[in-house]
Amino acid sequence: MPDALPVVIVGASMGGLRTAEALRRAGYSGPVTVIGEELHAPYNRPPLSKDVLSTGVSHEAVAFPARAATADVTWMLGARAISADLEARTVTTDDGREHPWRALVIATGLRARRLDLPLIAGRHCVRTLDDAMALRDELVPGARVVVVGAGFIGCEVAATARKLGCEVTIVAPGADPLIRPLGAELGAELRRRHEAHGVSFQLGRTVAAMLGESAFEGLQLDDGTIVPGDVLVEAIGSECNTHWLDATDLDLTDGVLADAALRAVSTDGTVSHDVFVVGDIARFPNLLFDGVARRVEHWNIPTDTGKRAGAVLGAGLAADGSFDEVVAKGFTPMPAFWSNQFEMSLQAYGLPGLGAGDIRILEGELSGAVAVGYYRAERLVGVVGLGLKAELLPYRQEIAAHAAS
Ligand SMILES: Cc1cc2nc3c(=O)[nH]c(=O)nc-3n(C[C@H](O)[C@H](O)[C@H](O)COP(=O)(O)OP(=O)(O)OC[C@H]3O[C@@H](n4cnc5c(N)ncnc54)[C@H](O)[C@@H]3O)c2cc1C
Repeated sequence: MPDALPVVIVGASMGGLRTAEALRRAGYSGPVTVIGEELHAPYNRPPLSKDVLSTGVSHEAVAFPARAATADVTWMLGARAISADLEARTVTTDDGREHPWRALVIATGLRARRLDLPLIAGRHCVRTLDDAMALRDELVPGARVVVVGAGFIGCEVAATARKLGCEVTIVAPGADPLIRPLGAELGAELRRRHEAHGVSFQLGRTVAAMLGESAFEGLQLDDGTIVPGDVLVEAIGSECNTHWLDATDLDLTDGVLADAALRAVSTDGTVSHDVFVVGDIARFPNLLFDGVARRVEHWNIPTDTGKRAGAVLGAGLAADGSFDEVVAKGFTPMPAFWSNQFEMSLQAYGLPGLGAGDIRILEGELSGAVAVGYYRAERLVGVVGLGLKAELLPYRQEIAAHAAS
């Protein structure tokens, strides 16, 4: 294989960037090409539904700082990968060009899931900087904003829109917001706090129809209720960007399956030695919890998986004998998540969803600052703090200790 062939990373966001940085840290000095569909250099997504959405959305406000280590990386922005041939070792982009690679990194993340409704003005989602810019223009005082979905992004956008003086209604099928990730009690408390800030809820409801011919005018819900509105925000989850891999034999069940070294796994269980998966799209086992491969859509995962994939791939390319040692190192990243909604600051560690059947208040009170624990078989697998930060660190340690036990 000619050494001049680049490592090709598809997806120019956090996971792709962190992998390129880690490759350099691992001593790989050969060519690296990053192919990214968006026109923007890598940027941070969490502020798009929070502070940046309220104070002014721009690339400068969210861009990741460029590091010297990756100054010689080739960025092909505005280019979408449409297919990959793992035998010929090429990726094809939408301009018809073929890009040969010596190793491939899949970092194509997620896209927002959309309601199956006609495309008219006033419909929005928040996944990209361009999405946030388009939404920001419409969040003017008095605008009636209807948010469909009561997960983190839906609740954050609702809080931001309310702070900007909009009238906000959240429509969701569950009994309370955020029940699936956090549980019923915390969900009910978050609803109470949103309501205290003037957010309305239509819970236990689904969308039956959209009103408006060319521009959004409201929703009709399944019980016949009409929710009038000027702006619709669809926050109903996401889908994995795997279409460009459809012709490969990779296991594309819920993202792309990888082993603990982030090497892609085929449907027959074969582990690839030159195709890696990082970030939101990676479904990998984390021995902090068990051997089950899962996707985790938390901000630290693109960094942790990028570092891991870069280290393993770098060791493989160096061919200096360090590969087996690097691969054998345990990979037990601690999922970490935060969310800001009004004055509420939520911080989470671990995988609360795994302990949904046994939720305990660890300290504090739901109406004030509180730490909530999520247990599986009497083991703490997740903790969520509302209004607490440093206080959560002992619980974080308790979750981490399980990896070693
Ligand atoms: C609005 C919002 C708020 C968030 N808030 C939080 C938070 O508060 N806390 C937290 O822990 N996490 C939060 N997250 C999650 C966090 O931002 C993600 O975990 C992180 O962005 C994932 O990075 P990634 O690189 O894996 O994927 P992504 O950021 O999804 O990047 C994938 C990139 O690949 C590109 N791409 C896709 N397909 C192709 C293709 N075929 N060819 C070329 N390029 C392609 C996409 O355009 C995109 O640029 C938030 C996410 C969003 C959207």
